[in-house]
Amino acid sequence: MTNNSVSRRRFLQQMSVGAAFALTPYRFGWAAESPPAKKLGVALVGLGGYSTRELGPALRETKFCRLAGVVTGSREKGEQWARDYGFSEKSIYNYETMVRIADDPAIDVVYVVTPNGLHAEHAIAAAKAHKHVILEKPMCNTVAECDAVLSACKAANVRHSIGYRLFWDPYHTELRRLAREEDFGSFKKMQGARGFVMSTWRWRADKKLAGGGPLMDLGIYLIQGACMAKNGIAPRFVTARELPKTRPDISRDTEETLQWTMEWPDSAVAEFTTSYQQDYDRFRAEGPKGWIDFQEHAFGYKVGTVETNRGRLHYPAPYQQALQMDDFAQSIQTGRATPVPGEMGRRDLAIIEAIYRAAASGRREEVKAS
Ligand code: NAD
Repeated sequence: MTNNSVSRRRFLQQMSVGAAFALTPYRFGWAAESPPAKKLGVALVGLGGYSTRELGPALRETKFCRLAGVVTGSREKGEQWARDYGFSEKSIYNYETMVRIADDPAIDVVYVVTPNGLHAEHAIAAAKAHKHVILEKPMCNTVAECDAVLSACKAANVRHSIGYRLFWDPYHTELRRLAREEDFGSFKKMQGARGFVMSTWRWRADKKLAGGGPLMDLGIYLIQGACMAKNGIAPRFVTARELPKTRPDISRDTEETLQWTMEWPDSAVAEFTTSYQQDYDRFRAEGPKGWIDFQEHAFGYKVGTVETNRGRLHYPAPYQQALQMDDFAQSIQTGRATPVPGEMGRRDLAIIEAIYRAAASGRREEVKAS
């Protein structure tokens, strides 16, 4: 047997342990806690692309929660959803009537899936209705808005969570394990890029509705990846520069392409790019003893090719959104913490605000994460 095949066999043994570990939180969670007699009722706020293509279908698979209502600007759409998903038409609301969710016993959790600039308003309305809240990423447009949401949830004594679905992806779970156990040593160098080509104007390029350009929408995934690789610790300093616009008709008052660096006190550095005019989705983290490289679809619903210096990783593709919502439902039912609380969303907004300050000033800026 060659050295290569020995190390490959050891690697596969380690990876099967790694895979078991990676799958434990949801496999074991479902097995250990039997589904409750009544699933928690979730109301989706905003029936756009993400609700229609991902969250609604995922709620057909969840074991601890179910779709129980909607908030939508279109009554007809709400009625269609009520028929498709089998909930009462009494639980269809619009943005003006959503305060009445307070009197709806079918709804326990409100999931805010509107444009970023509306997250704070809709999440605060949900908290005031005494419902637990999930906010899609980015949590809000600003740290100040995040603080207002956290205060409203505290005042109403309701739980909060962010739609960071990749916490239930096994490759990202393995990234967190590598970081936690320092299997490759402490990660010191990270690189990555995430972008897509936006061919016509959308709210995602509108400063008021989106809070910024691709950094808010896509760059946040790179920030998440880097913070996972650094055990949840925020960087201390950032630098940034905006590249010239090729489609100023689309990216009118927001960046089109942004490059930035993040620095940690232990000398770890990340270099990232995000764009609305380039297609890419990759992330790599290197430590003194090894590396992990998400070569394609690094942050997708089904993560693509992931290589390490020990070989390629192979995990089954779980239903990220179903696991994410079930985990929040279980955390409410058992009283345990969610791994993706509002404070994490706030941390990421603090990093984003520092990056925008650095792009504007041309200087190295400090991240005010606490
Ligand atoms: P979308 O444009 O497809 O849907 C937005 C919904 O908000 C629509 O139903 C729209 O009618 C409604 N809306 C209410 N008020 C509005 C207003 N004033 N202007 C525009 N729309 C308004 O967007 P989407 O892709 O569903 O994204 C919604 C949120 O979900 C965003 O915060 C986005 O970042 C997030 N998202 C997360 C993921 C993920 O993987 N976690 C994926 C996609 C989107």
